[in-house]
Amino acid sequence: MNLYNTLTRRKEEFKPSDKNEAKVYACGPTVYDRAHIGHYRAYIFVDVLRRVLKYNGFQIKAVMNITDVGHLTDDADAGEDKMEKKATSEHKTVWDIAKFYTDDFFTAMAALNVERPEVVCRATDHIAEMIDLIRQIESRGYTYQITDGVYFDTSKLPDYGKLAGLDLDQLREGARVEKNQEKKNPTDFALWKLTPTGVRRQMEWDSPWGKGFPGWHIECTAMGVKYLGRQIDIHTGGMDHIPVHHTNEIAQSEGAFGADVVRFWLHNEFVMVDGEKMSKSKGNFYTLDDIVKRGLNPLAVRYFFLQAHYRTPMNFTWEGVEAGQSGYDRLLDKIGELQAKTKNLKIKTKNHNLKLKTEKAQELSKAFLVAINDDLNTAKGLAILWDLLRDQKITDEDKLALALDFDQVLGLKLDQVKAPAAVEIPAEVQRLVSAREQARQNKDFARSDDLRLQIQAAGFEVKDTPAGQVVREA
Ligand code: AMP
Ligand code: ZN
Repeated sequence: MNLYNTLTRRKEEFKPSDKNEAKVYACGPTVYDRAHIGHYRAYIFVDVLRRVLKYNGFQIKAVMNITDVGHLTDDADAGEDKMEKKATSEHKTVWDIAKFYTDDFFTAMAALNVERPEVVCRATDHIAEMIDLIRQIESRGYTYQITDGVYFDTSKLPDYGKLAGLDLDQLREGARVEKNQEKKNPTDFALWKLTPTGVRRQMEWDSPWGKGFPGWHIECTAMGVKYLGRQIDIHTGGMDHIPVHHTNEIAQSEGAFGADVVRFWLHNEFVMVDGEKMSKSKGNFYTLDDIVKRGLNPLAVRYFFLQAHYRTPMNFTWEGVEAGQSGYDRLLDKIGELQAKTKNLKIKTKNHNLKLKTEKAQELSKAFLVAINDDLNTAKGLAILWDLLRDQKITDEDKLALALDFDQVLGLKLDQVKAPAAVEIPAEVQRLVSAREQARQNKDFARSDDLRLQIQAAGFEVKDTPAGQVVREA
């Protein structure tokens, strides 16, 4: 399979370095506010990656951190701690804030059918590992201490900024307004921040440099290496992590171990709203509640994202997600039909290993693998699924088997669709439906709506289709 590596700026063939197990690290959420649709895209991307690796027969060990300390309101190590700020405004402890929003995040992930990584680790449970790592970086001469903390001296790394292609000369000439005059270089970043005298933080720890808390970037290097070792196959995150967070993770590894520990850096593009990134700080975001309130299925949001490649920006609109819901509904109906025709055929799918009878089905099966192995092209994968379902020559058994097989990657819960039960429509309901038909012909829409309500009250729902009314159990 091929994956686009941000570091080399091209697609490269991927194989785990340890042939039995792919090691994947995903930057997790900072848990100070609701998870929103922008995050959904980031973690659906990670989930598809995980599913594609498994589909290719690799074992996987995936790690995701939960940032519950040290992420400041300004990515350049200035401003307040996002967590402490939220705790103050909500009159809660930081620990309560972290627990509440971590739970909120996983509730959303479950609704989106995002599999839980093998290891989920919190920054605050790994302070000792972070301190050890900073000491190691310090002992190799990459740090200096100023009034507010211990910093990484980025001028010690000649190729600092290579991931983002940063122009350091330009940066040094003051392209970024420097808030901290004591820093030696504008790109230097905090490894350990000291609690200012006279201030009491809710979260602070003793360290060789004084009481304080870790900088934001050190947690990912410390936990990545702890759980995955010094050879991490794939590291993921959103595009915003390229110039600062991931650039600094690379610096930390080079400082501590003499080399970066990551082979493939993968980044998802943003979900945008009116030309701006959907984000907690801008307040232009929507959550699971908003989706449910609109009567939409969270999996329709998943379907919406699968329609685009993860490296293209996506504009969020409710119309877009509603179109995703219609597409998803049609898909479920189609699978239900196939279940009915094959009498709920029992299919065991595992790793793209099916005995298909029709040649065309075999062809589509191969095409699907090629698509998703081409840097996770789910848009093409979905199109192939529709080609399959629309094909006239492929047998129903092959269609169903292959659709369920594709769904191991797509994660749309197609395996839970049952053939619609043959429900007898009671004579009384049938009478209401005929009366409604008559009312519609007479263009008496008030009566037609009233009859619809009576049908609903009897436990049935009626849909108007080009072929007439369709009635089913509500
Ligand atoms: P945060 O909690 O803000 O650190 O974000 C967690 C992850 O979600 C990061 O990898 C972000 O890059 C990603 N993310 C946040 N907002 C968006 C967005 N609007 N579109 C896509 N990914 C996002
Ligand atoms: Zn991270």
